[in-house]
Amino acid sequence: MATDAAAGAEAIVAQAAGNGGSDATSGGPSFTLELTQDQKDIKDWVHGFAENVVRPAASEWDEREETPWPVIQEAAKIGLYGFEGLAQFWADETGLSLPIVNEELFWGDAGIGMSIFGTSLAVAAIFGQGTPEQLGEWIPQCFGSVEEPKVAAFCASEPDAGSDVSAIRTTAKYDEAKDEWVLNGQKAWATNGGIADVHVVIASVDRELGSRGHAAFVIPPGTEGCEQGTKVKKHGIRASHTADVHLDDCRVPGACLLGGKEKLDERLARVREGKKSKSQAAMQTFEASRPTVGAQAIGIARAAYEYSLEYAKEREQFGRKIIENQAIAFALADMKLEIDAARLLVWRGAWMGRSGQTFENAEGSMAKLKAGEVAVWVTERAIQILGGNGYTREFPVERMHRDAKIYTIFEGTSEIQRLVISRAISGLQIK
Ligand SMILES: Cc1cc2nc3c(=O)[nH]c(=O)nc-3n(C[C@H](O)[C@H](O)[C@H](O)COP(=O)(O)OP(=O)(O)OC[C@H]3O[C@@H](n4cnc5c(N)ncnc54)[C@H](O)[C@@H]3O)c2cc1C
Repeated sequence: MATDAAAGAEAIVAQAAGNGGSDATSGGPSFTLELTQDQKDIKDWVHGFAENVVRPAASEWDEREETPWPVIQEAAKIGLYGFEGLAQFWADETGLSLPIVNEELFWGDAGIGMSIFGTSLAVAAIFGQGTPEQLGEWIPQCFGSVEEPKVAAFCASEPDAGSDVSAIRTTAKYDEAKDEWVLNGQKAWATNGGIADVHVVIASVDRELGSRGHAAFVIPPGTEGCEQGTKVKKHGIRASHTADVHLDDCRVPGACLLGGKEKLDERLARVREGKKSKSQAAMQTFEASRPTVGAQAIGIARAAYEYSLEYAKEREQFGRKIIENQAIAFALADMKLEIDAARLLVWRGAWMGRSGQTFENAEGSMAKLKAGEVAVWVTERAIQILGGNGYTREFPVERMHRDAKIYTIFEGTSEIQRLVISRAISGLQIK
C-alpha cells in the first residue's frame, strides 16, 4: 500500500508540475469529440460499477441516510475510490475523464456518488494550494486504504457565510512559540464533516482583508478541538453525510497551512500594499471543480431521462403508448437535447481547466449552472411522465428529483453562478 501511495502521489505531483505530457493547446490533436479508447474503457468500467453495485443500493442508503461505507469499500477495491484512480482520471490531458467518471457514477446514484466523490473537494484544495510535500503527505490520507477507506471534508461554509465567503468568521492565529496554528469557529453543511479523517478548513488569518485574508489548513486525523456538530437531515443526496464542524482552540502544526507560511506572508503583504492577490483560497477551489460538479448533475438527469423514456414506451393510456402523444415525446426530445447541451458545456469547461485556458466568460460557472438547472428540470419532467408512480418512492425518479435540487445550491447557487458570469462578460461589479 505504501508503495502504491507514493506512486499515486508522485503522479499527482508530476501532473501539478506540468510533467504529465504535452499541452493540448500546443501541437495537440485537432478538434474532436470522439472519445479515446482509454476514455471509453473508463466510461464502461465506471458504468458497470454504477449499474451493478451503486444503483441496487441506492434506495436503501437514501432511506437509511447514512454513509454507505460498504459501497465506498467496493469502490476502493476496484481502484475507483483512491488517489491512484483520481491520478489516472486527472492524467487525461483533455480533461474529459473526470466528468465522464462523475456522470457515470452519479447516473448510478447521486447520494452514494457524493459519498464516494465528496472527498475530492478536500483533495482539490490540497492539490490546488499545497506544496508537493503536502500533496504527498495528505492526499493519500484523505482516502485511507482499501482495507480501511477514509473520507475527507472541505469546510468553507459557515452559518453566516454561504454565498458570501468573505464573511467567514473562523479564525486561525499563529502561535509562533510553538509553530502551531490555533483555529476557532463553526463550519456549516460540510460534506463528510466530523466523520472525515482529514478536514480542510478555510479560515481567516486577517478579518480586515475579507476573502483575501483567507487561508486553507489541513486538520490531521484525531486532532483535538475539531468535532462534528449537528448532522443535517436533507431533502436529497441523503446517503451523503452533511454536518456542522466545530473548531474549538483546535491546534495544528505550522506545516498544516497549505502552501506554507512564507507564501501566505508574501500574499498578505501584497494585499496590504493594495496589490492584487493571486489567490483567494475558497474561490479557487470552487472554480476548479465546477465542471466536474456539473457532470454529476448530468448523470442524475440522464438516469431520470432514460428511466422515463423506457416507461413512456411501455405505459399505455387511451389504447396507445403514452410516448405516442407529442406532449410526452416532445418532452423527452427536449430532455435529451438539454442534457446533451449541458454536457457540451461541461466538457468545454473541463477541457479549459485542464489545458490551462483562461475562463474569460466564467465558462466553468456556465457549465455548472446549466447542468444543475437541467438536472432539476429533467427530473421534474420525468416525474410528470411517470404520473402518480413518479411521485412515489417505489420509482427512482422521485429520489433523482430530490437529489438534483442540490445542484442549484451547493458549489455556488445558480444566482451566484449568474453573478460570476455577468461580472466576467461585462467587466463590471454587478451586485
Ligand atoms: C448538501 C449540502 C452539502 C454541502 N457541502 C458543503 C461542503 O462540503 N463544504 C462547504 O464549505 N459547503 C458546503 N455546502 C454549503 C453550500 O455551499 C452553501 O449552502 C451554498 O454556498 C449557499 O449558501 P447558503 O446556504 O448560505 O445560502 P445563502 O448564501 O444564504 O443564499 C440564499 C439565497 O440567496 C441568494 N443570494 C445570495 N447572495 C446573492 C446575491 N449577491 N445575488 C443574488 N442572489 C443571492 C442565493 O442564490 C440563494 O438563493 C453544502 C450545502 C449543502 C446543502
